[in-house]
Amino acid sequence: MFALVDANNFYVSCERVFRPDLNGKPVVVLSNNDGCVISRSNEAKPFIPMGAPAFQYEKIFRERNVEVFSSNFALYGDMSTRVMNILARYAPDMEIYSIDEAFLLLDGMEHLNLEDHLKRMKKEVEKSTGIPITIGVGNTKTLSKVAAKIAKKFPGKTGGIYILDSPGKIEKALRWLPVEDIHGIGRRLARKLHRMNIRKAADFIRLSNAWLKKHLSIQGLRIKKELLGERAFGLEMPAPRKRIATTRTFETDTSDFEYLRERLVTFASVTAAKLRKQGSACQLLTVFIRTNRHREDLPQHFGSITLHADYPTDSSLHLAQLAVAGLEKIYRPGYRYKKAGVIAGELVPARHRQLNLFVPLDDKHIRLMQSIDKLNAKYGYDLLKTGGQDPARTWKMRQAKLSPSYTTRLEDVIRVKV
Ligand SMILES: [Mg+2]
Repeated sequence: MFALVDANNFYVSCERVFRPDLNGKPVVVLSNNDGCVISRSNEAKPFIPMGAPAFQYEKIFRERNVEVFSSNFALYGDMSTRVMNILARYAPDMEIYSIDEAFLLLDGMEHLNLEDHLKRMKKEVEKSTGIPITIGVGNTKTLSKVAAKIAKKFPGKTGGIYILDSPGKIEKALRWLPVEDIHGIGRRLARKLHRMNIRKAADFIRLSNAWLKKHLSIQGLRIKKELLGERAFGLEMPAPRKRIATTRTFETDTSDFEYLRERLVTFASVTAAKLRKQGSACQLLTVFIRTNRHREDLPQHFGSITLHADYPTDSSLHLAQLAVAGLEKIYRPGYRYKKAGVIAGELVPARHRQLNLFVPLDDKHIRLMQSIDKLNAKYGYDLLKTGGQDPARTWKMRQAKLSPSYTTRLEDVIRVKV
C-alpha cells in the first residue's frame, strides 16, 4: 500500500504553530512580494479564493479581520524537514513529493495494524511539530491521493485518515470523485472530459484504452490502471542533476569588469552550494558572458570558456577562483554585456571524489564550506559570502508582513519566548 501524507493548509499551519491565538481565525499567507494568496486557513476559504490578488482583497482582509502573512520560506522549509523526518521513521521508503506532501511505501508492513500505525504517526507529527496532517492510503499512488481527498473532505467521519482497502470502498470513492480532482488530470483535460459528459472518476475508468491512448497518451492509460488498483507509478527518488547552472540576465547592459567579476563570483558560490546540497562535486566549470542579442545596433560578443578543476570540487572558493580566471580570459572591454553565468559539469558524487595526488585537498576547507552552508541555512541564503561578492547586493523582496524566523534564528526564538 501507498500512503499519501498531506499537511493541511501548510503555510498557514506553520504560522499558527507560533501564534496559537490565530487558531479558529481566518489567516492567509501571500506569495513572494506579497502578490497573491497562496495558503488559506479553513476559516478564510469561504470568502478568499486561492490565488486572490492581495491588493484587490485588502478591504476584505480588513473587514473580516483576516490575519495576513508574507511568505516565510525559511520557516516553512524548516517545519517541512521536521515533518518529513518523523514520517521517514514510519515507512521503509518515502518520496518527498512537495514541501508539504510525501508518499510512503508501506509494502511489507502487513503484519502491522495499518490504521493504528498511521494514527501513531499522525499523532507524533502533530504533537511534536504542531502541523496537522491528512493521510490517504491505497494500493496505488493515484488511489492514495483519492483517499486523501476523502480524508480531507470528511475530517469528522475519517479523523483525517482514510484507507481504500476494499473493492466496495474504491467503487464508492470513484463514483464520488470529480474527474478534475484525479491526480494527473489537468484543467484543460478536465474541460474536454466534461464536454463528453465524463464527470466522475467512475466514468473515467470506463473509457476504452484505445481512446485514452489516443487523447491522453500513455499517461491517461496509466491513470486508469492506477484507479483500477494496478500500479503504474512507483516511488520516485530524485536523480542528481548532471549539470548545474546559475545564470542571470542583468537589468542593464554593462561593460564594467568589476561588476561582472562580482556577479560571476556570486554565481559560482550559488552553484557550489547547489552542488553541496545534492552531494556532488564538479570537474569542469564553464563561464560565459553575452551581449544583448536584441541590440543589433551594438557590437556583439559571446565569450565562453570551460576550465578544468584540479580535482572534483564543490568549494565556493575554488569555483569562484575558476570563474574569475575564466572571465579574465573571455572579457573584452568596450562590449556591453547583458547576461552571464557559470555551468558546473562532469559531476561526480562528492563522497567518492578522487583526490588529485598532486594537489592536497584541504580538510579544513571542506569543513569551512559545511559551516557556510549551515550558517546560510540558519540566517538566510547568501548571508556569508565569499570575498569577491558585493555584500550589499542581496535579492530584496517586498515582504511587509513577514513573521519571525522562529525555528532558525536565535534572536527570533527569544523574542517569542518572552
Ligand atoms: Mg497540503
